[in-house]
Amino acid sequence: MQKLAIIGGGISGVSLAYLVQQQFEVTLFESEDYLGGNNCSAEVEDGQKVPMGVIIYPSRGLFEHTLSFADEFGLECKPAQLPHVFCNSREVRFRSSSGSGHVWRDMKDVAYLNFGIKSHVDSHEQTLDELIAHSMLSKECVEDLLAPFAALYLSVPYASIFELPLSTVAGWWCKYCIPFHLMSSFSYIDGGNHQLVDGFVDRTRMTVRLNSKVTSVSRDTDSVLVRMGEEQQRFDKVVFAIRPDEALSLLDRPTKTEAHVLGGIDTNTLVSTLHRQPYDCEGGDITLNLYGNERESTHMVTTWGNRNCFGFDLQDEVYTSLHQADKAPIDDSDILAQRTFKVPVQTANTASVADQIDRLNAESDGVYYCGSWFCPSFYHEDGINSAIALSETLRGA
Ligand SMILES: Cc1cc2nc3c(=O)[nH]c(=O)nc-3n(C[C@H](O)[C@H](O)[C@H](O)COP(=O)(O)OP(=O)(O)OC[C@H]3O[C@@H](n4cnc5c(N)ncnc54)[C@H](O)[C@@H]3O)c2cc1C
Repeated sequence: MQKLAIIGGGISGVSLAYLVQQQFEVTLFESEDYLGGNNCSAEVEDGQKVPMGVIIYPSRGLFEHTLSFADEFGLECKPAQLPHVFCNSREVRFRSSSGSGHVWRDMKDVAYLNFGIKSHVDSHEQTLDELIAHSMLSKECVEDLLAPFAALYLSVPYASIFELPLSTVAGWWCKYCIPFHLMSSFSYIDGGNHQLVDGFVDRTRMTVRLNSKVTSVSRDTDSVLVRMGEEQQRFDKVVFAIRPDEALSLLDRPTKTEAHVLGGIDTNTLVSTLHRQPYDCEGGDITLNLYGNERESTHMVTTWGNRNCFGFDLQDEVYTSLHQADKAPIDDSDILAQRTFKVPVQTANTASVADQIDRLNAESDGVYYCGSWFCPSFYHEDGINSAIALSETLRGA
């Protein structure tokens, strides 16, 4: 049996290991002391864990593989009630639960968001501002609904949404939001999404190396050398299941395609804070607060209650706030746990290399790639999809 190293024990790495275990002798290297990557939790009460990263899965149609693996592993998925409230400088501009907000009163905006936007999925040259300029959407609808919603779900700063090619925003909106069903069709795994990671790991025959940070990878004529500091091991094939910029920094002599594609995907830093005091959060809703009226100075904080929104069995509510690293909105004394994530994001740069990502594995010389960054929305399902696609390539290689 050929020896395969998988670098990175997030959902992409563990699902790939599960899928190729019959064909390869798998060793999984993970730099942290746990598996799951972004799918991680913090203990806030005796034995009760609350997610710090991955929280929800949109509908079954969109998260087909994630939810069918959950079924296969006997995990119960529950619907999450997640009305969205968008506030701009503390004034509520859009509320999905009641259908109020001026966006809903303008039928032209509603018609465009449901139908007209589909014609822009190929508009690589245009941006959201041109929709406003050509009166296809009102300024308020773009600035108070479409842009914050996209910034929240694509994990990018508010201002970046206006720099993205319209094709990226329109493509994401058409896939996930039409016709506004998104807000009522989220689900989550009862008791926490980390159980999906455990489901893969418990069913996989492999060697797991925790606390093992890979420091470099180099190709030889007939093998690939993986180094962790002084230690080194040879493998027939190596898969990077980590962020693209990290993979590039570990590669000895990257190919032109690797340097171009892996180096072309931008990243953003997000902080997840668990706290007890509600922070500008409307009851049980997921609340997105935009601060500042100028786009350049606008920052976002998204807050929700884990007991109200996700049914966590907590004595007292624990809120999660997602925010930018330099805009920590919570009093230090109120912080129960905090974690910083660096994630690939959709930007104009990222969009410009997106159509070349598939070339990486097609041109492979012993080194392969998978991860949620293979698809534009960077969701859990994207990570699992990339593992499924790579498992098929590896079986044929
Ligand atoms: C705050 C937040 C909330 C999110 N919420 C959702 C959500 O609700 N629903 C959803 O679908 N998606 C959500 N996402 C996106 C989701 O987290 C990702 O799509 C997915 O988890 C990424 O999985 P991955 O395996 O590709 O990468 P990662 O989870 O990043 O895993 C990579 C792993 O590689 C390890 N690693 C890195 N470098 C090395 C090295 N040199 N050697 C060894 N190991 C290394 C890391 O420690 C990590 O464990 C969220 C992301 C964030 C940050």
